[in-house]
Parts: sequence; structure tokens; C-alpha cells
Amino acid sequence: MVIRQALNMVREYLTASDNPMFEAKQLVMLAGGIGQMDFILHPDMEIDEDELMELARRRQSGEPLQYIMGEAEFMSLGFKVNENVLIPRSDTETLAEYLIEQIGDRECSVLDIGAGSGCIGISVAHYCKNVRLHMADISEGALEVAKANAKKHGINAVFYHMDIMKGFPEGKFDVIVSNPPYIRTDVIETLQTEVKDYEPHTALDGGADGLRFYRRIAQIAPMKLNNGGLLALEIGYDQGSEVLGLVSEHFSDCGLIRDLAGADRVVFARRPIQLCV
Ligand code: GLN
Repeated sequence: MVIRQALNMVREYLTASDNPMFEAKQLVMLAGGIGQMDFILHPDMEIDEDELMELARRRQSGEPLQYIMGEAEFMSLGFKVNENVLIPRSDTETLAEYLIEQIGDRECSVLDIGAGSGCIGISVAHYCKNVRLHMADISEGALEVAKANAKKHGINAVFYHMDIMKGFPEGKFDVIVSNPPYIRTDVIETLQTEVKDYEPHTALDGGADGLRFYRRIAQIAPMKLNNGGLLALEIGYDQGSEVLGLVSEHFSDCGLIRDLAGADRVVFARRPIQLCV
């Protein structure tokens, strides 16, 4: 079957997709092992129909396109993804952009807690050249993905395989960032198939009230941040006042940032700069 026919066939088959043309094109390129150029220049190139239909079936049954492709985009960079990590969300770019703006060219150490694919820490280290990056995750599978992504983008990082509820990396940092699991346990089953059946629940489940990780991080961060250090957390759109409340028990200087859709998305806090007397 040639590209042109294959594209039409998959486009019609993907009835559950919001964007069947785009997705069909991606799957055809993957099945054919071809890039954008071949796709445009050689519409008569042969594509293996069985292989293509197997990919299309996976997509039609709800597997996210990014897992099938093995790649997702975040902050205009390509990240490897698989079932061990959440697919980077465009909402999370609010957090990355905030950090990039705050850090600029400054030399600083950044700890990304629950790094997953590493998309937050790595994009910050990519755009801010003087960052020393540290990434922690409870999942060994996730750390492998984060390592592959750090290598892909030429970023040196220190990796910690740990449960942040029990331990914490040694030393102090200038920035602590996290997009922790924040979905309430009872809400997970109500999420769309793509999320609940394919994405890792360890990366989503924030406990009965969704706040388990914020409580822990807010309590530990003051001791793990250098003077003037910054804590920045992604939150769910309806968690602004609760998380700000938790963080303000430990920090006097804190606030909320909204995403492009106008929803609360980031809580930040700063440790005071201690002046020597
Ligand atoms: N924003 C993600 C979602 O909507 C949740 C990410 C998280 O729990 N950190 O599924």
C-alpha cells in the first residue's frame, strides 16, 4: 500500500481521535520509518500495511500517540517517553517558563523531585546554561528515561532513585521544583482512558486529598534550600488555596501563578536571604 492510500485508510479508521489527519500522518511515518521529507516527496512509497494497522489499532484503543511514537514535545524540545513516565503536559510549561525566567544566566543548583521523563529539569538546564541539575524519582523505569533524555540534550545531571516521602537528597539547593502526583485517589478512575489505562498511576496519585506530596515537600524544603532559594510546584487548577496554605505555614514569601488558560497552576515560595550582622 502506498503512502497516499495508507494515510486515507488510517485517517478514516481513527474515529476516536480529535485530530485523525495529524495522527494518521505520524503513524504512517513511524510504520514506514520515514521522515517528513519522504512523506511529502514520495507519496507513492510502499508502507507495510500490517505494521501500520497494528499501530493504528493501538491508537484507536486509547494508547496515547506519544507512547506509540516514543516521543513527546515539551518547551520545543523532544523527549523520549514510555509507559514509565507521564507524557509532558503543555500546562507544565508554565512552571518551566517561570523557572527559566527566574534563573536566567545565574549559576545555581536545581533539584527536580519526581522528575519522570526529566522534561522540567532538562528544559530548564537547556535554556539556563549555568544550572547544575539533580533529578529524583521513585521509579527506576522513569529514571532510565530521564537519563536517556539528559544524554540526548547534553545535560549532566545527578540522579537519585528514592522515595521522597522517606528520604531526601543530601545537601542544599538553590531551586527545588516538582510536579508531584496530585490527583485525588478517588478521581483517578474517572480520568480519560488515555490517562487512567496507560499513564503510570504512581505519577498521578496524590493520596486521598491529592496533597500528600505537597505536605512533605513544603515541610522539608525550608531546610533543603539555600538562602534566597526558590521552591516552585505545579498544582491542579483547583488546589491553589490549599497548597498555598500548606506552603505558607513554612515560608513567608509565597504566591500563585496562573497558566495561559487562567487557571491556578504554580505555587512558588522563597527562603529569605539572611543578612550577616
Ligand atoms: N496534570 C496531570 C493530569 O491532568 C496530573 C499530573 C500530576 O499529577 N502531577 O493528569
